[in-house]
Amino acid sequence: MFQRKTLVTQLEDTKHWDVIIIGGGATGLGVALDCTTRGYKTLLLEQVDFAKGTSSRSTKLVHGGVRYLAQGNIDLVREALHERGLLLKNASHLVRNQSFIIPNYGWWDNFFYAVGLKIYDFLSGKLSFGKSMRIKKKEIISRLSTLETHNLKGGVVYYDGQFDDSRLAVNIAQSCIENGATVLNHFKVKNLQKDEKGLVNAVVAIDTETLKEYSLNAKVVVNATGVFTDDILKMDNTSAKERIRPSQGIHLVFDKSFLPGDDAIMIPKTNDDRVLFLVPWHNRVLVGTTDTLLDSHSLEPKPLDKEVDFIIETANRYLNKDVTKDDVLSIFAGLRPLAAPKDKSEKTKEISRSHKIIVSDSELITITGGKWTTYRRMAQDTVNKIIELNKLPNAQCKTQSLLIHGANGVVDRSSHLYIYGTDQKGIEKIKEEDPSFAARLHPRLEFTKAEVIWAVRHEMARTIEDVLARRVRILFLDAKAAIEIAPEVGELLRKELNQTHEWRAQQISEFIQIAEQYILK
Ligand SMILES: Cc1cc2nc3c(=O)[nH]c(=O)nc-3n(C[C@H](O)[C@H](O)[C@H](O)COP(=O)(O)OP(=O)(O)OC[C@H]3O[C@@H](n4cnc5c(N)ncnc54)[C@H](O)[C@@H]3O)c2cc1C
Repeated sequence: MFQRKTLVTQLEDTKHWDVIIIGGGATGLGVALDCTTRGYKTLLLEQVDFAKGTSSRSTKLVHGGVRYLAQGNIDLVREALHERGLLLKNASHLVRNQSFIIPNYGWWDNFFYAVGLKIYDFLSGKLSFGKSMRIKKKEIISRLSTLETHNLKGGVVYYDGQFDDSRLAVNIAQSCIENGATVLNHFKVKNLQKDEKGLVNAVVAIDTETLKEYSLNAKVVVNATGVFTDDILKMDNTSAKERIRPSQGIHLVFDKSFLPGDDAIMIPKTNDDRVLFLVPWHNRVLVGTTDTLLDSHSLEPKPLDKEVDFIIETANRYLNKDVTKDDVLSIFAGLRPLAAPKDKSEKTKEISRSHKIIVSDSELITITGGKWTTYRRMAQDTVNKIIELNKLPNAQCKTQSLLIHGANGVVDRSSHLYIYGTDQKGIEKIKEEDPSFAARLHPRLEFTKAEVIWAVRHEMARTIEDVLARRVRILFLDAKAAIEIAPEVGELLRKELNQTHEWRAQQISEFIQIAEQYILK
């Protein structure tokens, strides 16, 4: 079902699509799932891999956004809290309830945050994750053994969601296919085509593996390309104005010893008025993020020295264990597709984070902004808009209670494979059939060869990077280990994909080039 060959045949056999979606991040995959479950003939094309862009580089929070509440953006927070609740139900293998402690070093702060978080609780309605409460200094110290205690007055604990972003993307892609869509990675849209009335009715796309080009017709084309939005808008109209301004956020990953307990830390106001999170993730600690306006976008954005210094300095102010650059296991940057500011004085944190649907004169539909947490709602709004424009027949949205591939309700987290949900037994079976696949990939890592095999056979992974960055998150958890195991992973892929030794050598060199950027030098 998830074989590339089968999917390409579907693409070749279908003369007319109802919808073609460009971009396989959270937004595009959400739209594809919404479309196919409403019964439309749906095709999604992703130029590299699912979640290659921003959608694998988030802070891994399924949240309403405490920060947006402080800015008075009640509707945005209420909507996101509702979606947070749906995601926990629909993808319980990937989303979990996470406690966050806000340590307070001033009495007034304690009161302020306790009240604010009561509103946050209230806005989540029936889909609450747990009641926030003030906690005493003694309790904080027992729960956060590495927290700086000098001048600590007390704190507040509240609850939000925590998830694995690119694994959710892969599972949504699988759900799309299970519900009848054709979804392809490594397939780049190069151009748009129009009918005699000037309406977009086709895309020209290239299979980047075979270099074969296709012209594919559709009733409607959706541009869901994140920070690449303007590139597609320019294919539609060369003089289209710039809609997007990328804002970079970086994260550093550390060993679990920097935050050994189960609680995350939320620092609501850093020296330069930002929010910083320290979150347990896959047995490590993720610390971020920053908010730096950039003038250009790329698939592999580069963290800036000043962003690294800011995170290390802030972490050192709040932790009693020294954090240095040498402790960084992985560093990654992502780009928020923010609406271009009205003028240069507008600060990024003041620019709206809600999503935006743009209908071009050519009836190309663009969906941008928002966040991972609200991907489902963004899709629903987009498809409702397409129906309102009479481009597709009316049909009800079905994703509110649709289980995502792998969801099983009961989650047993005793093995790191819990993240696969119902697929966990498939991986166990691979190990039983060939015990050599039960071997660990690296002595520092819990992951086994069986997960690589599974990724190739069932999750549409095509390259070493697809596997190590977005199926098994090793590049994001321990970049040096990822480089060390690249030759072995390359060999597993070569055999599974029936490729040549030259292909493998090329793969290793391409992967190492990318992975080097995840090591802080
Ligand atoms: C630092 C940071 C932290 C964040 N943390 C959180 C968080 O904790 N929780 C949360 O809810 N949200 C968070 N977000 C927001 C969230 O990650 C984004 O809103 C979301 O991932 C955007 O998804 P997207 O699909 O719009 O864009 P992307 O994920 O960038 O996807 C766009 C895709 O389009 C593809 N594409 C581009 N051009 C073409 C083409 N010509 N042909 C085919 N494909 C093409 C790209 O390869 C890419 O994969 C964070 C964002 C950042 C930057």
